[in-house]
This record gives sequence, C-alpha cells and structure tokens, in this order.
Amino acid sequence: MCYILKGIMNNKNRTAHILFLSLCVFSLMSSSVTDASEAIYKKSQRLMGTEMEITVVSADEKKAHKAIDAAFEEISRIERMMSTYISGSQISIINKSAGEKPVKSDAELIGLVKRAVEYAGMTDGSFNIAVGPLIRLWKIADGGDIPDKDEINRAQGLINYKDIIIDEKQGTIFLRKKGMSIDLGGIAKGYASDRAKAVLKQHGIASGIVAAAGDISAFGRKVDGSKWRIGIQHPRKKDEFIGVIELQDEAVSTSGDYERFFIKDGRRYHHIIDPKTGEPSDKCQSATVIAKEGTATDALSTGIFIMGPEKGIALVDRLKDVEAVIVDAKGNVKVSSGLKNRIVLTREE
Ligand code: ADP
Ligand code: MG
Repeated sequence: MCYILKGIMNNKNRTAHILFLSLCVFSLMSSSVTDASEAIYKKSQRLMGTEMEITVVSADEKKAHKAIDAAFEEISRIERMMSTYISGSQISIINKSAGEKPVKSDAELIGLVKRAVEYAGMTDGSFNIAVGPLIRLWKIADGGDIPDKDEINRAQGLINYKDIIIDEKQGTIFLRKKGMSIDLGGIAKGYASDRAKAVLKQHGIASGIVAAAGDISAFGRKVDGSKWRIGIQHPRKKDEFIGVIELQDEAVSTSGDYERFFIKDGRRYHHIIDPKTGEPSDKCQSATVIAKEGTATDALSTGIFIMGPEKGIALVDRLKDVEAVIVDAKGNVKVSSGLKNRIVLTREE
C-alpha cells in the first residue's frame, strides 16, 4: 500500500502548473497495532509552501502528539527565519540589504548559508543559493514566465555565490552587489526535516518520518520492526514508481522537473535553474539522493539534477554515505554504485 503525500493540480489558462509529490512513503496508512503497546500517529500541516507530514511510532498517544506539535513548531520557526515569502524574515532582510550593508544574523542561519556555499563548491556551482534573481525572473511558483535573453544575462551577473560574504566573528551576512538575493528553496526543507527529526527525538520518539513533499527524513523502524520503505516517483507517470528503497536513520530527497512546471511550445519550463545557462536545467527528469541528513540530500539532489547523470553519479560515488538514482533526460535510470544492491527497480513493460 502506498500513501500519497502531496498531489495538487492547478491549471492556469496558458500553462499547466502542477505540483506533485516526489516521494511516497509505503505502509503508513494503517495505524495497525502489532505490538500491544505501540501504534503509529500521524499529522500534517501546510508549512514552507507544501504539505508537511510527520509520522511517529509511540506507545503513548499524548506524548506522540506533543512531540509532533513541537516538531511542526520547529519547522514553522525555520520558515519564519528562512522564507523569502515572509518580508520580515532574516533572509528577506539580508536580500533587501544587498549591496548596502551586512545584516546581523542568527548563528543557525549563518551555519546553513555556509553549508549551502560548500555544496556550491562541491557541485561545481550547480547548487547555488544566490540564484534568487533568476528565480524571481522565471516566476515558476506563480505559473511561470519566459524572460528575455538580456534579462537573463543581467540576472546572471548577480548570482555569484562567492559574493555572499559571511562574517562569523561579527555574526553577519552581506550580499556584495545590489540586486543579489539568496533563495534557500533548494536546502531549507531538508534542513527543516533534520531539525524536526531532532525535536521528535528530544521528545523521546525513537521512530518516525518527517516528510516535506520531496524531502523525507526517517529514523528507527516501523511498528513491526521492518524498515521504512520509500517509493521514488516516476517522473512522467504520476501513480508509478521507478523503484523502492528501505531507509533507516537516513534521509532522501528528490528534485524533479515535474513538480513545478509549465509547458510552452512543446518545451518544459520548471523550477530548477541551471546557473550556467540561466534557464531550467534539461539534463535530468529527476534526481534522488540518499544520505544521513536531509540538509545534504536536499542540496545535493538539486545540485546533481543540474550536473546531469554522468557528473552527478560520479560526484556521489566520491562522497561517503551518499547515494543517488537519476532519471536522465531520455528517461533512463542511473544508480550509484553503493545503491545497486539496495534499490528495487520497477521494470518497465
Ligand atoms: P523542491 O523545492 O520542489 O523540493 P528542490 O529541492 O530541487 O525542489 O529545490 C528547488 C528550489 O530551489 C527552487 O524552487 C528554487 O527555490 C531553488 N533553486 C532553483 N534552482 C536552484 C539552484 N541552481 N541552486 C539552488 N537552489 C535552486
Ligand atoms: Mg533540493
């Protein structure tokens, strides 16, 4: 059995703007009680622009709900700090102060921005949180708009991640050029799922799943002692999977061109922008990364989606405890060497 985490379809006259789930958690529907004392408790809440779902295994219903509520509060706190849609968020203030002045920032935000910049280096600049000006131009979240070439070129002059100046001593972040902006959309949900998992553990929960659409963090095991099973969505067939993996104390993220997109004149325009071209990346249909932490899987899935199947698989094969499955532009599935004996691929007819 499979539980669909997110599936919103939204047609706009000229464009089809579709939000889909990327990943699917199996066997969560049943709140079956195999052990007399343990059961599954689950709640969802709309946060960070998506439907978030938290599932825990617990013998104590009250404790389970308290833990889940605290985890949602943690995600909400992170959203208030990191969302570009909230005008008073620290990230919005940093963006508004671009080219003008450094902004005092929480050590937590500085830490995440620092990590994001490290992923930029690791992915050869493909994962780049300075893409804000391009994201604004393409307006994919609002249905989409194809910008002029010169607008793209101008925005590309403002996306150098080396112009993000982090001063840890002063506790500030400064964007060197006016017009620059940071967009944490490719890493914040993974980070939030890690933090939510930590809060659940602090509340005495030993097993659960935090699912933020395409970013899932799992820990412990199911009530029956088996591992959590995750289905990786087929990028072109809504209700099918390309494969299934089992997770224990791991996170998984999928970045895909089928989550937020529109089609114009036969071309698909989506929300993952290649900083080198200034346009939606066209080397993959989806990239799924498995690692110990959601922060890593979120950033790397976005990054290797843009790097493409060859460079992307080569990168994860060099990284310890990081695996990937990529669907390339033609629909071929590529699996990293450490995942080959862990993934059950669905055979296409
Ligand atoms: P989703 O947010 O749908 O889970 P991703 O994790 O792949 O998917 O993140 C895509 C989001 O990341 C975009 O909506 C945008 O906010 C941001 N983004 C787009 N292109 C890049 C990029 N090259 N580097 C970093 N972030 C990006
Ligand atoms: Mg991501």
